[in-house]
Amino acid sequence: MNDNKNNSIGCTVESCKYHCTGSDYCTKNAIKVGACNCNVNSVDATCCQSFEAKAH
Ligand code: SF4
Repeated sequence: MNDNKNNSIGCTVESCKYHCTGSDYCTKNAIKVGACNCNVNSVDATCCQSFEAKAH
């Protein structure tokens, strides 16, 4: 259970171990956002560098 959400960081990545259980927020105090590729010109080109996959 990971329900200590950070209201300042909305996130829909449910496969991340820092995703809030039951709502679309991150539970970390801070995250790092970076580029997904070399041509950063759209929303899809940025992504969370603090992502860690949930353990299965
Ligand atoms: S670390 Fe990044 S991907 Fe993971 S829940 Fe937080 S904002 Fe989402």
